[in-house]
Amino acid sequence: MEIYLDHAATTNTDKRVLEAMLPYFDEHFGNPSSQHGYGRAAQKAILCAKEQAAKIIGAKTGEIYLTSGGTESDNWAIKGIAEAAGKGHIITTQVEHHAVLDCCVYLEKKRGFRVTYLPVNEQGLINTAELEAAILPDTILITIMFANNETGVIMPVQEIGKIARRHDILFHTDAVQAVGRVPINVAELDIDLLSISAHKLYGPKGIGALYIRDGITPERFMHGGSQEKGLRAGTYNTPGAAGLGAALQIAAESIEKDAVHHKALAKRLEDGLLKIPDSRINGANAERLAGYVNISFKGIDALALMVRLDLEGIAVSTGSACTSGAAKPSYVLRAMGRNENEARSAIRFTIGRSNTQQQIDKVIALATEYVEELRYTIPFAQKNGEKHYT
Ligand code: PLP
Repeated sequence: MEIYLDHAATTNTDKRVLEAMLPYFDEHFGNPSSQHGYGRAAQKAILCAKEQAAKIIGAKTGEIYLTSGGTESDNWAIKGIAEAAGKGHIITTQVEHHAVLDCCVYLEKKRGFRVTYLPVNEQGLINTAELEAAILPDTILITIMFANNETGVIMPVQEIGKIARRHDILFHTDAVQAVGRVPINVAELDIDLLSISAHKLYGPKGIGALYIRDGITPERFMHGGSQEKGLRAGTYNTPGAAGLGAALQIAAESIEKDAVHHKALAKRLEDGLLKIPDSRINGANAERLAGYVNISFKGIDALALMVRLDLEGIAVSTGSACTSGAAKPSYVLRAMGRNENEARSAIRFTIGRSNTQQQIDKVIALATEYVEELRYTIPFAQKNGEKHYT
C-alpha cells in the first residue's frame, strides 16, 4: 500500500482538474491574446482562473494576475513593490519560505533595502507588538506568510493586516499553503498582495496567481507583451490556467468537508504518534492548518526514519521539501527555539483528501516500530555530541 503524506510539498492533480485542462491542449489551443475565435475560446480559461481565484479570497477578478506559481508570485510581490518604491525598509519573519526570504536577502544585499527578520516564539508565531515596534518611517512592505509550510502554524494575519493598514504600509502574504485549506477574505484581513500556487491544492504545477489590490502597482515583472496589464508579459499557460480555475473551484466547494476530514485524521495521527515516548508536536498550541503534523522524536535522525518509511511506500518529509536534500536542520524549527538535534529529529506529515484512517493506523504502527529501532541501533545523538538515547 502506497501512502502519500506529503501534501504540503505537492498534491496530485485531481482528475476533474486534468479533464478541465485537456481541451486547452488541442481543441482550444489558441493564444488567449488573439482577437479571433480561437483566442476567445482560450480566453475563457484565463477568465475562469481569475474568477475562481478572486472568489476564494474575496477579491475582484481584475485584481488577479496569473503567474508560474508561488515562487514567482512571491518574487513579483516583494521585488515589484520594492522596485516601485526605490528604497526603504521591509519587514518579514525568520520562518518564511525561501521564495520570500531569498528575495529579502537579495534586496538587502544587492539593492540597498533594509530588512527586519522578525523572530518567532516557541509556537512559531510572531509577536505583533514586536512587528509594530519594528515599523520605521520608511517601511514600505510587510511580508508575512499566512501559514507555515513546515508546521502549518497560522500567523495572526488579521492583526498584521490591521497594523499594516494603521501605518499605511503594504501587506503581502504568502498564502501558498493556506488557500483552499482555510477561508480567506483579503478585504476583511486588510491584505494588499497574496500569493497562490495551484499544485498545493490539487492543481497542476507551474501555475499560480498573485492578488494585487486595485490601486497598487508593483514594478513590472516580465518585460514583453501586454499580458496582465503589461506587468507580467508572456503567452498565457492556458491549460495551466484551466487547471488552476478548476482546482480553486473544487477547493472552494469542499473546503469545509476537507477540513473535517484532515482534522480527524491529523488528530488520530497525533494521538498515535504522541504515544511514542519523548515525542513532541512542533507548534502544538498554535492554530494550525488542518492536516499538518510536524513531530520531533527525541534522539533520532529524521532522515533515517523518512528513508525507512519510504522503503514501505510511505512518503513524508523532513523539514521543507526544498531543503530536505540538504543536511541542514530546519531553520524554521531552529527559529522556534529547537536545538539542532531536536530540529534534525522532526518529521512532517501532511494529510490530504485521499488519505484514510487505515493508512494513518499503518503509519502510526510503522513509525512506532522504526523510532524504537532507530533510537537503539543508530547512535545519532552520540554522533552529534549528545549522550546515546536511553
Ligand atoms: N511559499 C510556500 C509557503 C511554499 O510552501 C511554497 C512551495 O513549497 C512556495 C512558496 C513556492 O511555490 P511554488 O512551488 O508554486 O513555486
